[in-house]
Amino acid sequence: MEKVKFSKTPRTRISFFFLFLMNFFRHVEVFFLGGEECLCCGKNSGIIPVCKICLQKLFVADGDRRCSVCGKTLVSEIELCSSCRSQKILFSVDSSFSLFSYRLWKKNLLFAWKTEEKRVLSPVFASFAFKKIAEISQSWNSKGLILPVVPVPPRPGKIRQKGWDQIDELCFYLRNLYGIEILPFLRRLTRFQQKKLNRLHRLEQIKNAFVLRPQKEIQKLLKSLPETVILLDDVMTTGSTLEACAFELKKAGIKNVIALTLFIVD
Ligand SMILES: [Zn+2]
Ligand SMILES: [Zn+2]
Repeated sequence: MEKVKFSKTPRTRISFFFLFLMNFFRHVEVFFLGGEECLCCGKNSGIIPVCKICLQKLFVADGDRRCSVCGKTLVSEIELCSSCRSQKILFSVDSSFSLFSYRLWKKNLLFAWKTEEKRVLSPVFASFAFKKIAEISQSWNSKGLILPVVPVPPRPGKIRQKGWDQIDELCFYLRNLYGIEILPFLRRLTRFQQKKLNRLHRLEQIKNAFVLRPQKEIQKLLKSLPETVILLDDVMTTGSTLEACAFELKKAGIKNVIALTLFIVD
């Protein structure tokens, strides 16, 4: 694999220093007040709420047979899962990858990160995401360069309530620790609760929720659109969010959209 080039701008160095300080204080805090409890086995696990052993159990098992479209586990089906077969949702997404299954204690992990705001998990997730991004880039970019990442934008109002956006923070680490190009091409328009809607309703509602940012803003970011991008989100449920985003990206002229999420509900 070709080596990844790190962008060492002055800003990156400042961020590294900031990260180092943050980490240092976290270790001091853990030393005096005791560390986190592992969400899986309950043992003391230091600064993040998962111990090193359970961290390895996080990953979607490689041996599992997975749907070639959405990436969900196949039970008895061949190649396509039953939902992709009966009402296919992912048309604009060329391929979809997820790091962890959203099951058992892993649900608590997502809760700890998003809701309890255990932000120490962000760099951990970013390191896993980076490995996957490098892997995807190997097969989708003939030049072996690392593909740029387009983040799925959060619901309006969400940041104001909570003060931070998880995907944005992941992107911060991806850019500053691994030199990945982040392209915030998309904007989210409407505000609605997705959870209570069923699969089809959700797709219907979310279809019009994303738009590409104005051409001028995009041109400020780069001269020409990339051929292939990785679309990044935290959880894949039905895939309707990813599809709506990928649809917009393809409409703009991007050829391949590969989706990557941390968790998959399967
Ligand atoms: Zn553990
Ligand atoms: Zn599927």
